[in-house]
Amino acid sequence: MSRLRIVVEFAATRWLRRLRTREAVERRQRRLLRRHLRFLRRRSPYFRSMIPRGARDLGALPLMDKAILMAHFDELNTVGVRRDAALRVALDNERSRDFRTGIGRHAVGLSSGTSGHRGLFLVSRAEREAWAGSVLAKTLPAGRILGHRIALFLRADNTLYESVGSRAVSFAYFDAFADMAQNLERLQRYAPTILVAPPSVLLVIARALEHGRTSVRPEKVYAVAEVLEVADERRIAAGFGLDVIHQLYQCTEGFLAHTCPHGTLHLNEDGILVEREPLGAGRFVPIVTDLRRRAQPIVRYRLGDVLRERTEPCPCGSALTAIARIEGREGDTLRLPRRDGGIVEVFADLVSRSLLYADGVAEYRIVQVGPRTLEVGLEAADDTREEAVRAAVAGELTSLADRLGAVRPELRFVPYAPDGRSKLRRVERRWRGEQGDAEL
Ligand SMILES: [Zn+2]
Repeated sequence: MSRLRIVVEFAATRWLRRLRTREAVERRQRRLLRRHLRFLRRRSPYFRSMIPRGARDLGALPLMDKAILMAHFDELNTVGVRRDAALRVALDNERSRDFRTGIGRHAVGLSSGTSGHRGLFLVSRAEREAWAGSVLAKTLPAGRILGHRIALFLRADNTLYESVGSRAVSFAYFDAFADMAQNLERLQRYAPTILVAPPSVLLVIARALEHGRTSVRPEKVYAVAEVLEVADERRIAAGFGLDVIHQLYQCTEGFLAHTCPHGTLHLNEDGILVEREPLGAGRFVPIVTDLRRRAQPIVRYRLGDVLRERTEPCPCGSALTAIARIEGREGDTLRLPRRDGGIVEVFADLVSRSLLYADGVAEYRIVQVGPRTLEVGLEAADDTREEAVRAAVAGELTSLADRLGAVRPELRFVPYAPDGRSKLRRVERRWRGEQGDAEL
């Protein structure tokens, strides 16, 4: 990797490209978008006929999702990589868990996601370097930027995060699938100053800290790759003895948001454009256009996550949109019958918030398995109190339903079982039923 490009991007993001007003943010977005559309028209066979000459905005460009990205992979990408070749390399890498092989100067990766489709991602070297520079600019603490040791726990997509180690900053990669006891031992030796991992891994480390099985003390902890639930956030913060658990909202579709020193998520609107599909009460599904990603363009990509905008401005004064919470996957919004007919959408975040009030819950997972049936996997902090904890959880879920005007759900309690290798999802809707109320 070229250190120079990383350093240039780092400096530009951190010091030169200070966007102090909303006007400045939008001016930059308009400039990048015009340039990007010109590029796509020239270089992407998929977009050539869709973008008129001299286009200044996204106009009538269609939405994109993983299925479209896969179906049009060959015409979409601007570097002439074929889907079959890329898929072969990506699958081999996944099998060997060695992600260094790419195609030419491009890295390829698979994303499983939660939607069931298999996605194939393609990133150029220049894009990876720019990514590394901008992530570092947004994560290294103010004051000291040299000498950090960054530990990253990753599942897949490792090619996106190729090592940029140097004397200034060192990186160590940990396989989140590997044996956790060995990971902890290595982590202890490495003594990271910054730790980046999915919440499920951070919970394991926080627990190890509480039981004295490790003594790592990173200055900053970042949650990535999974929704950070309120209760988990508190447990992780307490375990690490930190006031703020930071977040990087990064998926294969792009680096979408990061937390400021106050712990507030801000959209990375210096490099992406976020359109909104509104869901009411400040909630929306983001539709993302990456204004700088060229090898595999991400244009009007509908993410399927539910975000909630923060109502009051963040004290950090940033002109980038502040997000109160990432509330989970759109498909995991529970749908309960309304008492007076119709459907109430119960956002995952509302469920996890309501469970904050139930005492003695160690672990939980709530899955909607029928039109009004919730399966509740529960582990009590103290086995002898299991009945009481069940009653407390039932009470909170019932009062949540009452508050939202929904029919009270039938609760089926089962022992808590983590869902294996997939991402930690505490609230999930498995029942698909009808989108309307035909089955109720
Ligand atoms: Zn802020």
